[in-house]
Amino acid sequence: MFGQVAENTQKELTVLVAKALIDVQTGKTINNSVVYIRDGKIEKIGSGLEIPANAKVIDLSGKYLLPGLIDAHTHLCHEYYGELEKISGANTISETVKLNEGERALLGAKNAREMLMAGYTSVRDLGNSGMNNAVALRDAINKGWVIGPRLFVSTRALSPIGGQFPKMTPEVQNLIVSREYVEISSIDEARRAVRQAIYDGADCIKIIVNNDRLVLSEEELTAIVEEAKRAGLKVAAHATNGDGPALLATKAGVNSIEHGYTISADVLKLMAEKNIYLVPTDAPGVERYQKRIQRALAANVKIAFGSDLYYNNPQATRGRIAAGAYQTYKEAGMTNLQILQSATMHPGILLAGEGKIGLLQNGYFADIIALDENPLDNIRALENVAFIMKGGEVIKNSSK
Ligand SMILES: [Zn+2]
Repeated sequence: MFGQVAENTQKELTVLVAKALIDVQTGKTINNSVVYIRDGKIEKIGSGLEIPANAKVIDLSGKYLLPGLIDAHTHLCHEYYGELEKISGANTISETVKLNEGERALLGAKNAREMLMAGYTSVRDLGNSGMNNAVALRDAINKGWVIGPRLFVSTRALSPIGGQFPKMTPEVQNLIVSREYVEISSIDEARRAVRQAIYDGADCIKIIVNNDRLVLSEEELTAIVEEAKRAGLKVAAHATNGDGPALLATKAGVNSIEHGYTISADVLKLMAEKNIYLVPTDAPGVERYQKRIQRALAANVKIAFGSDLYYNNPQATRGRIAAGAYQTYKEAGMTNLQILQSATMHPGILLAGEGKIGLLQNGYFADIIALDENPLDNIRALENVAFIMKGGEVIKNSSK
């Protein structure tokens, strides 16, 4: 999938000079940090390295360097309005019926720009993008038509009958569910849906394990994971409503459980054994979610940050709101280092595999942000990103 990412063609050496670099893997701070960047990738990192005369130097003295932020659960081409919420399902029906594909893609372009400008250099977009608009958005970003994070996208989510729509008349169901979801009702349909997603350009597969009273079967889930793995795609599983759906998905061998608001210690233990990530998308201040984060940490389940934002908010950009959501993890008792790992290193491996994104190390993409304050002291420092570089290209530099 990285073959599709447009790489920066610069051959010259760029050097970042900063007050410090936070190694999110160890929690160590490297003072007087110097980062060599060539060809869109990190070539060398150290403290007080000499600066070659021909290098292009970017002076970030006084700032702290971190890997670019990563969001493992977005819906960039999807937007809800609070006032419609009074009628169950009105938002999803209205969006699917009223917005055409061009409008969904352009909404995605707006949200992609907002995420990047808040420091998110990679994002995994998991469905609700209409008919494959997230694929179009990813390709448009890679071609330089619009700006945005590196996108890792699923196409339509694979779901039980009806997707996540409310009960509708049969005529309407037939018309609109397939614009957002692929309904699965047999092992053959499960296999076909994954193959269709691959054909449509998916980087990963999203499944809705449960909705209301309908739950995909273990055999269907196993078939989905088998087909996806054969093609090298990972599987993200929406699982809510207690332990049952998460356990089914875990047994099937998915790569991440999305939401999993109240998963038990037993299922979390199994997830840890199978190296399945938890992507909490929690509302703030909910004690049962916080306790589940505590259980996940105790079970050594890796936590990857997911914002799952889709409400229209004229007060702030999506990226700004996403960066504020780390506070929810803080309330749940995660340390600042654990939060930084969930924001960078863990989703980096979940999205792209080892050695590509989520750490500042030799050979990684030069996806780098700089902050005015040390995020190990104050995690809210992530809400004000002073400098953003994606693939060696400077996106924002407020220190100039
Ligand atoms: Zn979601």
